[in-house]
Amino acid sequence: MSAFENALKQLDNAAQTLGLDFGTVAKLKDPDRVYEFEVPLVMDNGSPRSFRGYRVQFNNSRGPYKGGIRLHPQVDLDEVKALAFWMAIKTAVVNIPMGGGKGGVSVNPKELSSAELERLSRAWVAYMAPHIGPHQDVPAPDVNTNPRIMDWMADEYKNITGDASGAAFTGKSLGRGGSEGRRTATGQGAFYVLGELMAALGMELAGKRVVIQGFGNAGHHFALLAQKAGYTIVGVSDSKGGIYHPDGLNIEAIMKTKEEQGSVVASDAGTSVSNRELLELACDILVPAALENQITKENAGNIQAKVVLEIANGPTTPEADAILWAKKIYVVPDVLANAGGVTVSYFEWDQNLKNEHWSEAEVFQKLETVMKNAFKAVWDTHKEHDVDLRTGAFMVAVRRIVEATKG
Ligand code: GLU
Repeated sequence: MSAFENALKQLDNAAQTLGLDFGTVAKLKDPDRVYEFEVPLVMDNGSPRSFRGYRVQFNNSRGPYKGGIRLHPQVDLDEVKALAFWMAIKTAVVNIPMGGGKGGVSVNPKELSSAELERLSRAWVAYMAPHIGPHQDVPAPDVNTNPRIMDWMADEYKNITGDASGAAFTGKSLGRGGSEGRRTATGQGAFYVLGELMAALGMELAGKRVVIQGFGNAGHHFALLAQKAGYTIVGVSDSKGGIYHPDGLNIEAIMKTKEEQGSVVASDAGTSVSNRELLELACDILVPAALENQITKENAGNIQAKVVLEIANGPTTPEADAILWAKKIYVVPDVLANAGGVTVSYFEWDQNLKNEHWSEAEVFQKLETVMKNAFKAVWDTHKEHDVDLRTGAFMVAVRRIVEATKG
């Protein structure tokens, strides 16, 4: 099944428990607008190329469309639609006044020079500028996009429209209107949510073994926080593969290896494992922090963790969800677990519009409150209706979206 089909199945599960009528569900499944376009790029050697670009504006009944831009060869319309839909659910789960959207370019940015990447980023904005803006649609970073790229995009938007608020893009660098705490927000939010779940399950966190698939911005920051808090990180991986040590890995040392040699697999701190093997390692908490469709009906039965914390978007298929839930493995869904990123994006947007700059302590204090409230709403719904946490989260979100649609 495609990512978008999976996303709609998740919605159906929640809609059924909520008893929503067919018309309401059909409306929730339909994106408001889809942009699919060519992004032209002149390479450094002068040759012209073009890449497929996307923006899906899914739902804005609760506020401006909000969501990142992904640069990855796997990007296609189905994936962007799924990601945009999950953003609409996510902003509603954490109850921030934003809707859902997502964008991307089907490209491998690792094959581009810095100058090419800048031209590509600016070309995406040149096409989308009339359709985005602080009160319309506010893009942000996602896989392979970062503050530098957001700065180029915000600058291009300013050049085209004259809007100097900076609020049309979030995830900018601190010197260009970015928020304190945005860089680490996704990992931080996931960490707060995990703490709440451990407390709700009455699980002691010291020494609990954690395996993390994906060592990008979010996975890496989560690993640092978890290690500091007393969890033992026994396995990590990136796109090239993973390493495992039952006594724990030193995350800072592994990050250094990745920076210097390009991958965690260059580290000699543990045994080499493939990304597939990594998911099935003996551990207490499994953290998929890479891409979609990693835990499927093929491997869900082999997962040994008691908790799956989804920092990636869409890592678990609906069939896998059913298998895990039957084994009473708690899956903390992406729309809750990784919502810290968009929450601090919302704080950034708010600061830009008010011309304020909040301290990191203030940002994290606000983030913690948002994440704890979201967890409680999801947990209570799960308890009340005897559903898994994903269905609980979708029920919370869908209720809020439907309420907003009524006006
Ligand atoms: N790309 C992130 C996500 O999937 C953040 C989106 C945002 O900050 O708008 O939630």
